[in-house]
Amino acid sequence: MPEPDLCVYCRKQPVDPRWQPFCSERCHLLDLAHWLDGDYRVEGPADGAPPDMEPDDPEAADL
Ligand SMILES: [Zn+2]
Repeated sequence: MPEPDLCVYCRKQPVDPRWQPFCSERCHLLDLAHWLDGDYRVEGPADGAPPDMEPDDPEAADL
């Protein structure tokens, strides 16, 4: 009897056929976010704007 494949992200839960090679939508999204975050940090901000600046900050509009 073969052992079930484990989720490639958490390595704890068995793979769900709907989300393979992950165990759930959560791990699928977390893995995707991990890759997007990694690409972003490697490439850097294209427009030179600080990534944490919010354009609709009410305190900034008060200056
Ligand atoms: Zn998982």
